[in-house]
Amino acid sequence: MTGGEILMMNGKTMLEIATLCYQCGTCTASCPLNLFNGTRINPRRIMRSIQLGLPTDVDPFLCMMCMACEASCPRGVRILDVIRLLRVEAYQANKAPQRLVQVLWNVYEEGNPWGYPAKDRGKWLEGIRTDNIREKAKTLLYVGCISSYDIRLQRVVKAVVELLVKSNVEFTILGDRERCCGDSVMNVGETGFLEELIQDNIKLFREKEAETIITISPHCYQMIKNTYPSYGGRFQVMHYTEYLAKLLDENKLHIDTRYENNRITYHDPCYLGRYSGVFEEPRKLMEHVKGVELVEMPMSRWLTLCCGGGGGKIFMETKPEERPANIRIKQAVETQAEILVTSCPYCIINFEDSLKLQRVGLKVMDVAELLAAR
Ligand code: SF4
Repeated sequence: MTGGEILMMNGKTMLEIATLCYQCGTCTASCPLNLFNGTRINPRRIMRSIQLGLPTDVDPFLCMMCMACEASCPRGVRILDVIRLLRVEAYQANKAPQRLVQVLWNVYEEGNPWGYPAKDRGKWLEGIRTDNIREKAKTLLYVGCISSYDIRLQRVVKAVVELLVKSNVEFTILGDRERCCGDSVMNVGETGFLEELIQDNIKLFREKEAETIITISPHCYQMIKNTYPSYGGRFQVMHYTEYLAKLLDENKLHIDTRYENNRITYHDPCYLGRYSGVFEEPRKLMEHVKGVELVEMPMSRWLTLCCGGGGGKIFMETKPEERPANIRIKQAVETQAEILVTSCPYCIINFEDSLKLQRVGLKVMDVAELLAAR
């Protein structure tokens, strides 16, 4: 991305991206925001406006960046790159939502979007076995912001660590020195601080001698995997479900967890599934858990429905009646599953929030928790 007069994303201007569009409207039809009060983001119209040199007249911060539009486009138009460029324009024109600007300041001051104290970042480590955690190692576990601080989500990190230790994997962590991967900064449309943050993170990864980076969050995963290389940071990046599935293939991970005939369903997080095509690894891990039956929701894999947390929306207030998570919970209940399993901290937050309002007999678990639970 370049600043100044002509904004570019992945080497292309908005016009160069939009030129490919032949106005079929598939993207607009697939946008989950259409589920609420009619169309609020119309990618087809945005592309046409850009082609004609007209103002796009859209609030790019409404978008959840779930990629449903781009994944369905028959022309392969990089719609999300256009939304990102519109966010850069809006930020430069002081039109970014105040809440997201605050997120930026929180990352700048404390290293995380919520503004939790930087010095407490490594507290998730308290009370867990650390014998396999080294000062430096080829494998680095990048915990991520919300998973480091939120007590509920720390359970997922602890489950991942337990599984790594059980498989005799030696790894390193960043502890209190870990900072945001930059996903939240990119969502605001800021570019200068984003570069500084990424460069600092790359330096830290190298200092730790990391070659493989395991992430808990699909948001950190897609950021480090897809954006860091353009800043010179080339690492093997794996979501923890990919890493554990690899350990399973190598006969290093043995799953001996047993449930009592539980029906489960799996929600594909957008940033893991649609963004990176990681659909099978989580399912493969769950198939090894005894006493569970996996039933699919009709909208699964590429058709997955966004929980509503992507694109910075996790930091913003969404009216209860407009939360996609409510619809997803209903879809999970229709499968008669007792457990809704997923592999993203934002999905867990949104689903558990939604359950507080819906009061249905459904439990939300992360794949790691399902594997590690006794
Ligand atoms: Fe254009 Fe692709 Fe949307 Fe069709 S789906 S209107 S080609 S951007």
